[in-house]
Amino acid sequence: MYLRTMSRSIILSNAKRLQGLVLGRVGLVQRQCHHATAPLGHFTAEETMMRDSVRKLAQEKIAPLVKKMDEEEQLDPSILPMYFENGLMGIEIPEEYGGTGASFFSSIVVVEELSKVDPAVSLVCDIQNTLVNSLIMQLGTPEQKNKYLPRLAQDTVGVFCLSEPWSGSDAFAMKMVAKKDGDDFILDGSKVWISTADKAGIFLVMANADPAAGYRGITTFIVEKGTPGLSIGRKEKKLGIRASSTCQVIFDSVRVPKSNILGEFGKGYRYAAGMLNEGRIGIGAQMVGLAQGCFDATIPYTLERKQFNQPIFDFQGMQHQIAEVATQIEAARLLVYNAARLREAGQPFVKQASMAKVYASQVATLTTSRCVEWMGGVGFTRDLPQEKFYRDCKIGCIYEGTSNIQLNTIAKLLKQEYS
Ligand SMILES: Cc1cc2nc3c(=O)[nH]c(=O)nc-3n(C[C@H](O)[C@H](O)[C@H](O)COP(=O)(O)OP(=O)(O)OC[C@H]3O[C@@H](n4cnc5c(N)ncnc54)[C@H](O)[C@@H]3O)c2cc1C
Repeated sequence: MYLRTMSRSIILSNAKRLQGLVLGRVGLVQRQCHHATAPLGHFTAEETMMRDSVRKLAQEKIAPLVKKMDEEEQLDPSILPMYFENGLMGIEIPEEYGGTGASFFSSIVVVEELSKVDPAVSLVCDIQNTLVNSLIMQLGTPEQKNKYLPRLAQDTVGVFCLSEPWSGSDAFAMKMVAKKDGDDFILDGSKVWISTADKAGIFLVMANADPAAGYRGITTFIVEKGTPGLSIGRKEKKLGIRASSTCQVIFDSVRVPKSNILGEFGKGYRYAAGMLNEGRIGIGAQMVGLAQGCFDATIPYTLERKQFNQPIFDFQGMQHQIAEVATQIEAARLLVYNAARLREAGQPFVKQASMAKVYASQVATLTTSRCVEWMGGVGFTRDLPQEKFYRDCKIGCIYEGTSNIQLNTIAKLLKQEYS
């Protein structure tokens, strides 16, 4: 109970005190150089408080469970209740709906902090906040918001169902259909790779309700667990992020009322693409946190471990590699923060989000690979965390748009800029 046990007044007074300190410092700097703006890594008092409390929570409550969860390939039963109790599943959901009422940037910081300890357990928090909650907050009718936002903030996992066996990168080639039947729609088809589907209560499902119109028939439906015909299929056995379940979801004549359409009929392709642009910033944060967590677990060893009568850190060959990796982690973090700030400011952010995701994934791959090497033989064992970080990082190049798809997006936008 790190966030919610602090009374609102304590949180606010701490926040004001911090803000005073920060403003005092900014004032001082401004007096010195007249036109200073806050650096990209500057946090508001609220963001600082979220970061510090989640860091403590992750270290104290999650870190001791990481190895067991990876080996058993499932979340510990304490994780989801702990997320809900601490307001981590409804970070941007307004307080009137029972959420934390914090910023998008706070969600990014939370995902980064959780990922430093375990990228597998950060995923459910990332998807809930940057995809599911966002979609309902932005598109939901007042009735849908009243019905679903309190549940998503307090006790219900939501999942994002887009991918199908035949449509991954080309997501809008989906075959799942939604056939109109009076005031209802009947959903038929199957989705694959759906993260945390076995724990979900709310499914956001993209299905084509007018196949003759091509991708312009794709519509977003809210489907609740327990709806007849909805079932969870095979759970995948994966290389990494093993504690996060990844399942097939089957829709066998699932009847949903028209009132469960989210947003406008036929606009699902636009919503999914738009939401994944935001989601990519979250995956960038996951990869930055993962890289930093692996680096933090490794450097102390390089300072202690001696070969040829000196710490291995002191060999210049090691120092240059370490400095290079630290620089790249910093660069990836700034790309992620910049994309998040742009999104929050309502400015164009799609190119920056793709750059953040593709680069952070590359940096996580380089960092974890180097960390395993710097540890020597022990880095190759399952006793230490580097081996798991090395496996976990690979997913950053694949989900929410592969690295090639990010590069396609960046190139498309560059072409527009230069044409
Ligand atoms: C662990 C995990 C969790 C996931 N969670 C979810 C989830 O919660 N919800 C959900 O809907 N989906 C989820 N996914 C699915 C994920 O988003 C897709 O796997 C991803 O988009 C890639 O699709 P694909 O696997 O079909 O690969 P493909 O699209 O078949 O791609 C295969 C290769 O071809 C390349 N390629 C394809 N098209 C192009 C192109 N135009 N230009 C250049 N290269 C190209 C790709 O880069 C890739 O290297 C998850 C996947 C995994 C593995």
